[in-house]
Amino acid sequence: MNSPPGSAVAITADEWQRAVASIEEAGTVCLACHVSPDGDALGSMLAFAQALRVLGKPFTASFGDAFVVPRILRFLPGLDLLTDPGDFPAEPDVMVTFDAASRDRLGSLAPNARKAREVIVLDHHASNTRFGTTHLVDPGAAATAAVTERLIDRLGVSLTHDMALGLYVGLVTDTGSFKYATTTPEVHALAGRLLATGIRPELVAREVWDRAPFGYLPVLSAALGRATLEPDVAGGLGMVWTTVTRADRAAYSLPYDLLEGVIDVVRRTDEAEVAVVFKEDDEGAWQVSTRSKGRVDVGMACVALGGGGHPTAAGFTLHGEVRHAVERLRELLAEIEVVTRT
Ligand code: AMP
Ligand code: MN
Ligand code: MN
Repeated sequence: MNSPPGSAVAITADEWQRAVASIEEAGTVCLACHVSPDGDALGSMLAFAQALRVLGKPFTASFGDAFVVPRILRFLPGLDLLTDPGDFPAEPDVMVTFDAASRDRLGSLAPNARKAREVIVLDHHASNTRFGTTHLVDPGAAATAAVTERLIDRLGVSLTHDMALGLYVGLVTDTGSFKYATTTPEVHALAGRLLATGIRPELVAREVWDRAPFGYLPVLSAALGRATLEPDVAGGLGMVWTTVTRADRAAYSLPYDLLEGVIDVVRRTDEAEVAVVFKEDDEGAWQVSTRSKGRVDVGMACVALGGGGHPTAAGFTLHGEVRHAVERLRELLAEIEVVTRT
């Protein structure tokens, strides 16, 4: 039953059955998603919380400190169902984790997962460390939202518009608006089922990508203005990188969580296979986003730097200096074998 981390096993019928039975038998189900949740983590968890509400099953849902919902996700239905992580049961009976590839991604709720009697790990990272007791981990799934929809279905709950909205946000964010290689016919079929509940895709796109306060423009301009292209990195495939500092943001009172889209501009660079954006958060740590176009596994580089992610989209947290991290990236990308798939 226990497979090595990273092995691409599909979810077994036995695992589905055990997950469903545990949830049905549990008095309370405790839900947690990864820290600094993105659309997939929070959207999946909120959809599932609403499914539990339909079932009449008591639950607690939260994510580790800092317990702040990113601005771009504040339109999601079900935020009122969240509980402060300080009030999360210390020793849950049954816990379900969303989009967390390892236990430490749960941040301040990691000890709760360690003490839980049963942990159902619901995820799609190939790098998942299988830290639970039941693993609904499908590395072939484009988003945790896709796995979540299957579990909701197996619990016999019909999708409502509000559940579907959380899942849809997870699906569109993790596929980059259906642009990434993970966008299979099954992804579009799922999107179709979600849209059929009455979701307005144009409103979702506007909330998630197509809006920002005016200050975003000068902050983006500063970041793009200092972008550096290093054509020799990654065996000549090239790397482009830049920073967004606290000082940049302070000048326009721009909150940190509005920086998620910067990497999508930087990664356009034709001359670079790898794009990196260092974002300084309010505590002075650097949250680093990396992307590749498919020929280099940036996930491996990020794991070596204490983070994680997928081969083409990964990240890590840096407490040291940017120039040192850039140097480490140059070294790591020189070592990582080029994937031939494009
Ligand atoms: P982001 O650049 O923040 O959109 O993150 C891209 C992907 O990298 C996420 O989906 C996560 O899987 C992973 N990731 C980002 N930051 C971290 C981190 N600090 N630790 C582990 N994985 C991370
Ligand atoms: Mn995520
Ligand atoms: Mn995800």
